[in-house]
Amino acid sequence: MFENLSERLERSFKVLKGQGQITEINVAETMKDVRKALLEADVNFKVAKDFCNRVKAEAMGQNVINSVEPRQLMVKIVHDELAKFMGGEQAPFNVDGNPAVILMSGLQGSGKTTFSGKLANRLKEGKKKKPLLAACDVYRPAAIEQLKTVGQAIGVPVYSEPESKDPVAIALHAIDEAKKTGCDVVIVDTAGRLAVDEEMMKEIKNIKDAIKPNETLFVVDSMTGQDAVNTAKAFNDRLDFDGVVLTKLDGDTRGGAAVSIRAVVNKPIKFVGTGEKMGEIDAFNPNGMADRILGMGDIVSFVDRMQQQYDENEAKKIEKKIRENKFDFNDFRNQINQIKKMGNLKSLASMIPGVGKAIKDIDINDDAFKGIEAIIDSMTPYEREHPEIMNGSRRKRIAAGSGTRIDEVNRLLKQFDQTRKMMHAVTTKNPMKMMRGMRR
Ligand code: GDP
Repeated sequence: MFENLSERLERSFKVLKGQGQITEINVAETMKDVRKALLEADVNFKVAKDFCNRVKAEAMGQNVINSVEPRQLMVKIVHDELAKFMGGEQAPFNVDGNPAVILMSGLQGSGKTTFSGKLANRLKEGKKKKPLLAACDVYRPAAIEQLKTVGQAIGVPVYSEPESKDPVAIALHAIDEAKKTGCDVVIVDTAGRLAVDEEMMKEIKNIKDAIKPNETLFVVDSMTGQDAVNTAKAFNDRLDFDGVVLTKLDGDTRGGAAVSIRAVVNKPIKFVGTGEKMGEIDAFNPNGMADRILGMGDIVSFVDRMQQQYDENEAKKIEKKIRENKFDFNDFRNQINQIKKMGNLKSLASMIPGVGKAIKDIDINDDAFKGIEAIIDSMTPYEREHPEIMNGSRRKRIAAGSGTRIDEVNRLLKQFDQTRKMMHAVTTKNPMKMMRGMRR
């Protein structure tokens, strides 16, 4: 995402390359380009102008020290101002209380239901919370079904009253249900309309007044550009929400929404959604986002997502198995699932600094694992636990069963064997030392 904006900015910075100092003339020229880039990325006109004036003022006040080029200095100034513009620090998210209540608002199709699931999953996996999802869309029976499907996929209960037409009562009952069943977070998914309308606003305001949520989140599709800003303003005027969720920041979404929404409603962006899978959620990080806009990658979000998915007990179990040389194909299959749970491979890889631009036009998809998974799935349980018994006829059967060729099966077995030996050697030598080294 944001490739267009970051590419443009990069180009405009090139004008400054090799020049000895930041002068009014070259700043003005660069800023013209920066402003154009921001407008093209759908940043609100006034916001872009305001931003450029801030950068200009900042840049003019700075002396270029010998060790930095003006271009580097400008990148840093634009980066820091951009991060400041988007809120500076990562905004806190309050899930204290028993139960804590989170209210979701936004237009239909913005991604509320999907995000409710992602948030529940994140709280369950990362914070060891016990969430309950509440279905308060009383207009579309399909909406209740959709939330139930999401709940089932992540193992989170869903409270609904299909016969009721009173969303306020459903939300209150859901909170009672949470107290009864020991759930400590209630995520209330509400009805959206295709456009802002008075009735919807009244309804969600009534729900908010009745349930007094810890957090009211406004969910918005970042692909809707300027409209996203207008919708955010309309919701904020009525609802005074606590934070914004920007969805669909995957693909070639223009990044302007992140910059302008923050500036126009003056509320923090708290989360971003980057895909349809449950793992594709990140805490919004203004610094990381500024890095990303400027093509520096977003290593902070990457680490954040890794931590969310990292299961310490599982890791210890695996380490023990490796040490005892018992790492088998079941473990291997689990590891693949873990990686897949983290979401789209390309979006993960693009978070690594320098990689995003390089892989922009390369097609990386999750099918990369398909052949390997098929081969493992065609093994018998005994074979998966005892990879060493794999003789010629077993290999032939597995190739036929998985629709692969025998040389692909051979290659996987060989790689698995080598990896296992290497892991075993490394872990048995001095695991503590190795871990310490990795953390540095
Ligand atoms: P709701 O009407 O606000 O509840 O919206 P939904 O949760 O039903 O989402 C609408 C559509 O957007 C669905 O097809 C979702 O799969 C899709 N969607 C939601 N979040 C994302 C996201 O972060 N990225 C992408 N690519 N699609 C998303």
